[in-house]
Amino acid sequence: MTQPKNKVVIFLGPPGAGKGTQAERLAAEQDLVKISTGDILRDHVQRGTDLGQQIKPMLDAGQLVPDDILIALIRDRLADMEGVRVIFDGFPRTRAQAEELDVLLEELGAPVNHVPLLEVPDELLIERIVERGRQATASGGSGRSDDTEEVARKRQDVFREQTQPLIDYYGARGHLKRVDGVGSMDEVYTRILDGMK
Ligand code: ADP
Repeated sequence: MTQPKNKVVIFLGPPGAGKGTQAERLAAEQDLVKISTGDILRDHVQRGTDLGQQIKPMLDAGQLVPDDILIALIRDRLADMEGVRVIFDGFPRTRAQAEELDVLLEELGAPVNHVPLLEVPDELLIERIVERGRQATASGGSGRSDDTEEVARKRQDVFREQTQPLIDYYGARGHLKRVDGVGSMDEVYTRILDGMK
């Protein structure tokens, strides 16, 4: 089956909703490139780049990194692509990022196609994140330094304040599909695919 040249999917949902895992699978099955801003930023921190040193305190505190930094990263990432077949995981996270992304995608002739919103109740989210932090520590890795209960709660607050408005933004454009994020990975994945039909 030939894939259309351009396809843009944006995964919305609070921290701990499972966006990364689901996006990974969708990317593999539909020949899309997953762009996870969390991964890109953590990679800078690990490599100790100038940017990494600048943003580490923000990541550790569960705060957002400034919009202009994110927008420059995404602009670079999209610049060298031929067809734009991407899934964004963790971007956009603010209205300014969403507006800038629309400008970029317009320039590239690749408008947004789908915006699944993974919905999971708050308490379950904190539980999942703290568990992820525990398992990482137990397996000997240092894990993500932002996976503690305190920082997880901060990340939920930031989501409510900064990212929740994007639900209306994409809802108004007819792209948003609410997906129940409670259940097995397979169940949730099937719901995501159904929402994209
Ligand atoms: P989460 O599990 O909280 O969804 P991510 O891996 O997506 O985590 O992001 C981790 C951290 O990276 C965020 O708490 C924030 O500090 C930073 N970050 C990631 N994406 C963005 C973005 N689009 N805008 C601003 N900051 C971001």
